[in-house]
Amino acid sequence: MSLDLIDPTLLKEQCYVDGAWVGTGESEVTNPATGAVIARVPRFGADEATAAVDAAAAAFKPWGARTAKERSKLIRQWYERIMAHRDDLALILTSEQGKPLAEAKGEIDYAASYIEFYAEEAKRIAGETLPSHRADARILVLRQPTGVVGAITPWNFPAAMITRKAAPALAAGCTIVVKPAGETPLTALALAELADRAGIPKGVFNVVTGDSKAIGGVLTSHSAIRLVNFTGSTDVGKLLMRQAAGTVKKVALELGGNAPFIVFDDADLDAAVEGAMVSKFRNMGQTCVCANRIYAQAGIHDAFVEKLTAAVAKLKVGNGVEAGVTQGPLINDKAIAKVEEHLADARAKGASIVLGGHRHALGGAYFEPTVLTGATAAMQLAREETFGPLAPVFRFETEEEVIRAANDTEFGLAAYFYSRDVGRIFRVGEGLEYGMVGINSGLISTELAPFGGVKESGNGREGSHHGIEEFVEKKYLLVAGL
Ligand code: ADP
Repeated sequence: MSLDLIDPTLLKEQCYVDGAWVGTGESEVTNPATGAVIARVPRFGADEATAAVDAAAAAFKPWGARTAKERSKLIRQWYERIMAHRDDLALILTSEQGKPLAEAKGEIDYAASYIEFYAEEAKRIAGETLPSHRADARILVLRQPTGVVGAITPWNFPAAMITRKAAPALAAGCTIVVKPAGETPLTALALAELADRAGIPKGVFNVVTGDSKAIGGVLTSHSAIRLVNFTGSTDVGKLLMRQAAGTVKKVALELGGNAPFIVFDDADLDAAVEGAMVSKFRNMGQTCVCANRIYAQAGIHDAFVEKLTAAVAKLKVGNGVEAGVTQGPLINDKAIAKVEEHLADARAKGASIVLGGHRHALGGAYFEPTVLTGATAAMQLAREETFGPLAPVFRFETEEEVIRAANDTEFGLAAYFYSRDVGRIFRVGEGLEYGMVGINSGLISTELAPFGGVKESGNGREGSHHGIEEFVEKKYLLVAGL
């Protein structure tokens, strides 16, 4: 309503179902930087969600029957339109989510990169022939689209978490119903508008906003849904997995992490500090791959803390639309409360605050970027994701000790370490029980690599040619009597 968009028609206050804009705006969407209401979106429940799945089911056969090249061209069109409206999409994203505009633009590029990649990949979903057990028969393996996908996505990456699911789904010939997070529905709806303009047929891509329990209930029980694809908290992921068991749906989950970030004595310290900054403070610490525990080896511990603190002191907190701001607000009060809880617990158990440690003078959902030393395994921040701008440093002595500590968690999404020793790189890289390991880099996300976790961080992979796997079923044809 008050956003200064080049194309104001990208701000949608209705849901997109079966190629039409439906519902009326009821739930407020607020800007976490100011508290202002920026739009209202429908509060859909089970009936409307069922209608959306029915529409996606009706669109499934014709969409899958198109040639891969036809699908590829339409998906590519979607990518082109997203890139053409990058600035508006970034402004919508920042306004509902809070991340600085430059980061929001980065997310739009990142989100679009999945669409570009899977538009290309659509043409490479090949089946195979296998050696046969009979001379008069042949074995063929078809890779057919899984079916209708139910996707539930979080607020921390309002664009990318949708395109990572929707792009491979559409490429494979699946149709999809997306339920975005209540905090950030506007980016999802803008993506739907651009899918519409790209000519994606009705019913192929649908977005419903509203009651997450009711919609989640439909997406995990409707007989037409064959895959539930979720990114979010581990608790909700477990709940959805249980719900999906009732009709034996495939489930792909990207859940919480508790990323260790290890700096060995032989590391390039400046590079390690740079990596720790992007890994820890990107999106105000609100990503599932953010460093949660920073381990510094005894020989470099003090020097590392000094350099890290100097870098953190340079961060600028504020409204993400203002120039020079590197840190936006946290998403809401609940997020602030968790940071405060972890801080208080750590202090009570002996940690020292080197920098920050308070709500920011700007008020609202702003918090000071914070560095702690003396962190230990007994603290809450060692066991749970803080999802905020809190960098706790743990001191360690040996490689064996730090691998054990890093793996001592039920999570297994991302891990990072800095070393220049080639033997150590392989030992530690292979020893960490994580789906992804960044070595001498604090940034690992790219559409070209398989993103995903092990243990309670989830299953399935998004990105690269592996990311198509959830969206295709292998069908075995035995052709005999030849
Ligand atoms: P966070 O705590 O980071 O918000 P959630 O897992 O609660 O993470 O949210 C991720 C997504 O899951 C959001 O789209 C949210 O609306 C949705 N969600 C939350 N609870 C449920 C539920 N009971 N059933 C289905 N979806 C849910």
